[in-house]
Amino acid sequence: MASLDLETHGEVTRVRLSHWRSRLVGYDVSAYLHRGALIDTGFPAAARDVAAFARGRGVATAILTHHHEDHSGGVVALHAAGVSIAMAGSTRDALAELTRVPLYRRITWGSPMPARGVPAAAPPAGLTLIHTPGHSADHHAVWDAERGILFGGDLFLGVKVRIAHPEEDPRLLLKTVEAMAALEPAELFDAHRGRVADARSALRAKAAWNAELIAAIDARIDQGWEDAAIRDELLGGETLAGRLSGGEYARLNFVRAVRRTH
Ligand SMILES: [Zn+2]
Repeated sequence: MASLDLETHGEVTRVRLSHWRSRLVGYDVSAYLHRGALIDTGFPAAARDVAAFARGRGVATAILTHHHEDHSGGVVALHAAGVSIAMAGSTRDALAELTRVPLYRRITWGSPMPARGVPAAAPPAGLTLIHTPGHSADHHAVWDAERGILFGGDLFLGVKVRIAHPEEDPRLLLKTVEAMAALEPAELFDAHRGRVADARSALRAKAAWNAELIAAIDARIDQGWEDAAIRDELLGGETLAGRLSGGEYARLNFVRAVRRTH
């Protein structure tokens, strides 16, 4: 049984989701209820609770920011409950592959159900999907242009994020964060951090920090440094999460990704 805590921020309701296994490793994830739509759907072990919540609130559409299981875990249960799933075609395609997730993610969030055959609906009026690659190739932010509210999925996470999944592209993420800062959102809601205070400055600070870090990594690549040495020098060594995940969610991936696109 997942816990589902509600927080109200003006018109936006944060639906903060966790269960004992995710809390054990210090993780929770949030979906958001805005203008009658649910943005993201939580993790597999919360699927039944999220579907019951959506039914209770009369949600007709859920919108996915990307295919990762802590965002798409409710898709099958919501689809079965008659909720349309708005998502990019790339997210729909990635969902079909999602059963093969690393062990540490299955332990944290539960095993994803195959979500094949769930059609991609369009987002409801007033909300648009903006392609924001970097965290994953299929990542999209949900933008309420009328109110200046941005739902950033996993594009923000914090100003100084030194850790990455193997499929992340920090150089692309930098462009994405700059583009989101240029939108000048009044509000930014992050899937893990909740409401981000002073959204514009936070996005600009993240872009500046990443630009500086990537330049420093590039300079050391040019000088012939090894990846692990660059990590130790610029990112402060590997984390416990990096070791526990078998290198799946690790600082070394950040350096490798910068080298891949060097
Ligand atoms: Zn993600």
